[in-house]
Amino acid sequence: METGSLTRQQKLRTLCRDFCRSAYRFVFPPACPLCHDEVDAASREVDGRLVTPVLCEGCSAEVNPPLGNRCMRCGIPIGPFIRSEEGCSTCRNLSYRFDRVIRLGIYDGLLRDACIRGKSSHTQPISAALANLLWLSERENLEAVRLDLVVPVPRFWTRRLTQSHHQAETISRVLAQRLLVPHARTLLHKTRLTPDQSELTASQRRKNLRGAFAVWFGHRQISGKTILLVDDILTTGTTANECAKTLLKAGAKRVVVATIAVVPPYRH
Ligand SMILES: [Zn+2]
Ligand SMILES: [Zn+2]
Repeated sequence: METGSLTRQQKLRTLCRDFCRSAYRFVFPPACPLCHDEVDAASREVDGRLVTPVLCEGCSAEVNPPLGNRCMRCGIPIGPFIRSEEGCSTCRNLSYRFDRVIRLGIYDGLLRDACIRGKSSHTQPISAALANLLWLSERENLEAVRLDLVVPVPRFWTRRLTQSHHQAETISRVLAQRLLVPHARTLLHKTRLTPDQSELTASQRRKNLRGAFAVWFGHRQISGKTILLVDDILTTGTTANECAKTLLKAGAKRVVVATIAVVPPYRH
């Protein structure tokens, strides 16, 4: 009797949920935040959970072409059949403190355009949709890491005055929600404003960021933990490396990087 009533309750709950979702879709027809075309409603549900916002099929295929072989350590494309557990010819001699990079694609074409457009506050859904796509395409790799915390690469507080949207934070929040892992938004801090990295050489970049990050209040929170460090774009890996170094020094066991796009070395 009790089982029957529970089943009825469950059925009622499912009916209510389906009705609410249909009503929501009717009022707010799902649209791709990049091209504004309609999104197939079925593509928004995974394991009974509504995944939103998402890109349309056309944009998804363009920003996330067939995987191809990539370096397990730094994420750049490498030739077929090349093993890269210990890194590729580009990164093998670089002393990265993070274990590996999990990424969506290459910083080029529509993905580059999406990363640039996602930086402003009113295009936040673009960043969230890219994060959802990263989760959908790399879910197995992300879950295999057995994460304890998700942490965004921080920016210096004065940047909030000039940049209303922090893309890394939006991406890390979405990933934390999807992976059901706590989002430690303010765990890592940037301690000073640093000059733009784009004009600097590799050694200048390292010097520029040395000691620029800190864990102020949270050593107990990260001791022995595996952390997913999230940034929107990974260029040389210097920023991610400096953040990883700071987290490990504060007691973290392991740092894995997740990013939307990597910039291959020939485009730096
Ligand atoms: Zn689209
Ligand atoms: Zn590599």
